This record gives sequence, C-alpha cells and structure tokens, in this order.
Amino acid sequence: MTFETDHTHDPAVQSWGTSANAPGTEFPIQNLPLGVFSTAAAKERRIGVAIGDQILGIGAALDKGLLPGLEGLSTALRSDSLNLLMSSGRAARQALRDTVFTLLRADSGHAAAAGACLVPMRDARMHLPAQIGNFTDFFTSIHHARRTGELFRPDMPVAPNFRHMPIAYHGRASTVVESGVPCVRPRGQLADPQGAAQVYAPSQRLDFELEVGCFVGRENSLGQPISIDDADDHMFGLCLVNDWSARDIQMWESYPLGPFLAKSFMTTASPWVVTLEALAPYRVPAPKRDADDTPLPAALTSTRHVTQGGISISLKVLLQTAAMQKSGMAPVVISQPQFSDQYWTLGQMLTHHTSNGCSLRTGDLLSSGTVSGPERKDSGCLIEFNAGGKQALPLPSGETRLFLEDGDTVWLRGVCERDGYKPIGFGECKGQIVRDAT
Ligand code: MN
Repeated sequence: MTFETDHTHDPAVQSWGTSANAPGTEFPIQNLPLGVFSTAAAKERRIGVAIGDQILGIGAALDKGLLPGLEGLSTALRSDSLNLLMSSGRAARQALRDTVFTLLRADSGHAAAAGACLVPMRDARMHLPAQIGNFTDFFTSIHHARRTGELFRPDMPVAPNFRHMPIAYHGRASTVVESGVPCVRPRGQLADPQGAAQVYAPSQRLDFELEVGCFVGRENSLGQPISIDDADDHMFGLCLVNDWSARDIQMWESYPLGPFLAKSFMTTASPWVVTLEALAPYRVPAPKRDADDTPLPAALTSTRHVTQGGISISLKVLLQTAAMQKSGMAPVVISQPQFSDQYWTLGQMLTHHTSNGCSLRTGDLLSSGTVSGPERKDSGCLIEFNAGGKQALPLPSGETRLFLEDGDTVWLRGVCERDGYKPIGFGECKGQIVRDAT
C-alpha cells in the first residue's frame, strides 16, 4: 500500500471559499480534514469538513445533491460520528476526498449552492470525531525516554526493550475529551511533604504530553496480525493528543504495572482528523538507525516502510498563564519538536499492537507518546524541561513554571510543510487547568 500524491494535492488549486486561500490557513482545499460538529441552532451532531474558517456540512451537501457518487456512503456520512466512515475503508475515504475537492474548488460552479452548506467555525461546537472504544498510548521518542529515564534510572536511562519494540500502556477511552474541555486538577495518593505517609491531595506535579494520535480505520479480526505493509490501510487519520499526566501520582503508583490514575483522569484530542490521503505529500523515510543500533525485528520493517514509513509534522506547544491572559499577553511557544524524530513510526506501533493477534476496533485511538526533540528545549512535557522539578521554565511574563498551575492554558499545534505543496494543519488541541472542586 503506497501513498501517491494526486490532483487533490496540487498547490495551485484554490477554493471559492476565499478563507481557504489565505496564506497561513491550516485548512486549504488540499487538507479537507473530517470532524463532528453542532451549532446552537442545530444541536444534532453531524459530520463536516474544514475549509478555511468554515465547515462544510456533509449531510447538507448530500441533501442538495452536491456530492454525486457518494449515495452508497449516505448512512455513514449522515452519522453523528466518523466510525462508520472509518470502517468503510480507504476507497470510500478517497472517493469522499475527491468529491469534496471537486465541489470546493474555485471553478466548480457550485459556490452558491454549496455556500449554503457552510457553517462558520466560530459558530460551531466541535465534538470528539469518533466513538473511541480503546485508547492505547505509546512511548516512542528516544529523546523523551532518555531525558525521563535519566531522572529515574540514571544507570540505565533507556530501558533495554525500548529499541526492540514500541512500548505502550492501555489508556482510558472513557476520559478522552475534545479540545477545549477544562482539565480539572486530579487528586490522588501522594507522599505528604514529610514523606511519612500517603495522603489524597490535588496533584502538585501536573504536566502535559504533546502527542500525535491515530484513529484506527478498518478492523482486524482476533488472531489476525496486521503486517507492516498493511498498517497504513488500517489507519484512518491523525489528530493531536494531550496526554495530561500527574507526575507525583505516576511516580508512586506505576511500579510494577505502569501508569494508571496518573493519566486516566483526562486526555484531550484535537477535533479534526487529517486523513492519510491528505498526508501523502509529507511521508518521509522511517527514522534511520545507527549502524551499531539494535537490528529492527523483521516484522517491523519493509522496503516500503524504510522509504515512507514516517510522517513529517512540525509540532508546537504553547502556554498562557492566567496572569498572561489577564494582561492580554499572547500564548508563548515553549517547544517545537518534529514528529519525524520519533524512534518508532505509527505503522510500527499498529503492527506491533496486533502482533499477538490483538484485534483493533474502528475508532480506537493509538497515540505516539510524548514527542520530544533531541534538545531539551524541544521537550514534549514539563518534566523534561525541569529535569525532574529542579529547573523552572522562565516565561516572558516574568513568571516561571515547574509544573502546570491553575489557570494555565496549553495548546498543541501541528503543521505539515514541504516544498512544492500547500502547508496543512491540524487545528488546535487546547485545555485549561482548573482547580479541583474541593
Ligand atoms: Mn503519554
């Protein structure tokens, strides 16, 4: 399965929706990410496509006969989540992309009719794009592994298994929420300041984790592993994920079975799903290994995977404290890692996940784990910046941060860029910390 670019990636094509042609837009006609939205006037959830600062309502466009050839997908496209479309496979997704592209291009002749199917993003509420049955969170940045490992296992920062397989834990699907939902500071079992006892108290070490998520499209049956060359065919599209983490709870509870309540209180996902078709121009070789590195297991590599197993995404974390917000100070970029620096690819994660016969379900969310660059300044979480709570991060407001404080807002952003192609973005993955109710 390969991903070729086609006419839908032509950077010269413009849309009659003029905001989609504005320089810097994340949603030009070459992107066409899918999401689920509602409005105050029409509260039912429905599927839409982002175009500039507008949302094309897919059901409304079907009603007007503007999406010819997609009648067979009518039930999936009129659903209140993307699951049915996700399960319909790649040909259906490609047909939708082609048809919507044709409708939205400047010379379609349908500007007036289709314009009536647009909803301004500012008037819409975005929801989770899918019913997520399972959430698996990986640990695939060697830079994150090294910097966090140095804190807890200085003698062996990167565990021996890290280079053999993508490590993961099973997360909590019921607490994956859409961008914008406030993050209530979790309470948990912590050591009291004297260290004499464990007490239930609000976490004092609340952190974010910048991650890239992948929604599973086509399912595999129980007992049927997915090969590395088929992995892309089971991936529907990508979003941004903030795996909020309470480090003090995590440190205490994780031995010997790994994270539990330190992460299950909430995970934020960005609402727009950028399809694998939209990402075709940004495929890059899988990360190159040093000659003396552990050899890749045969099942986790292939000729095609070596040349295009990776995806290039420039990521950003932005932070705004309550004081910055109050004084009108813009959010500050605190980190800019590259997704292509991950040691393992999403294809390897999905393949490894099913290597024991585990069945994935349509709508399952697999997330990359913290994305951190080689340098500490491009860390994907605060505990790496502060070296375990020792070095506070200075902010332009004169404040400093070791961990997140009440009122802090974190944004994750991601953009794909390549010479000769239109940049495309993921939209925002946002959450503000609010104090616990007690
Ligand atoms: Mn994580």
